[in-house]
Amino acid sequence: MAQVSWVDVAAAVDEGVLAVLPVGACEQHGHHLPLSTDTDLASSVARRTADALSALLLPPIAYGDAWNNEAFSGTLSLSPATLRAMIEEIGNGVLRMGVRGLVVINGHFGNREPIALAARTLAQAGLPVIHLDYPGLEKLASEICDSQPAGPGFYHADEVETAMMLAIRPEAVDLSRAVPEYPSFPPTFGLEPMQLRTFNGTGGFGDPCRATAKKGAALFAGIVAENIRLIGEWRARHAI
Ligand SMILES: [Zn+2]
Repeated sequence: MAQVSWVDVAAAVDEGVLAVLPVGACEQHGHHLPLSTDTDLASSVARRTADALSALLLPPIAYGDAWNNEAFSGTLSLSPATLRAMIEEIGNGVLRMGVRGLVVINGHFGNREPIALAARTLAQAGLPVIHLDYPGLEKLASEICDSQPAGPGFYHADEVETAMMLAIRPEAVDLSRAVPEYPSFPPTFGLEPMQLRTFNGTGGFGDPCRATAKKGAALFAGIVAENIRLIGEWRARHAI
């Protein structure tokens, strides 16, 4: 949307357009991937989803709630309240503009709660919102990838994210620096606030070494197909 003029946006709104907002993070991703990984992947999933829907693709939010990776250099985190406020304010803006609904594409686990709370506020204000976190990824990863995740549903600088980056930005991936790591999770992981660096040395989880661009392309295709299916269900529920 930011690359066209306001008259183009006004014309799209008159036709009942939806908006798609990618939300990423500025977060460490091991030795071999850039800090922009979650933003790059969410933006790419969002672009493909927006193209399939002829929707307005909004500029991404390039920071997220990455508190538990702040012990690694380069990670810059927003508080949950700030991220929630950003999504609410962007949502209020598209609602004022006349957009019929907002699709949020999230690329980072820590953003889930602030996004869900913002969606609730926006829905109450009259803007239908669906928030999608790469639906179906667990099944896709088990079918497409060769390595096991470090934990159930845990994909961070691993084969999944590395393959997806190879599919869109191969020049940003340095596989010669990729290090497999299967850390032992402390028994209270998820039950108390915890910096990941206390038990994770490289910043990566799982084995990125067998990632290929072809696997990444298949992951993108599967995620986008599931997005389109769920967005269809959501549109039918709201008649938008
Ligand atoms: Zn990531």
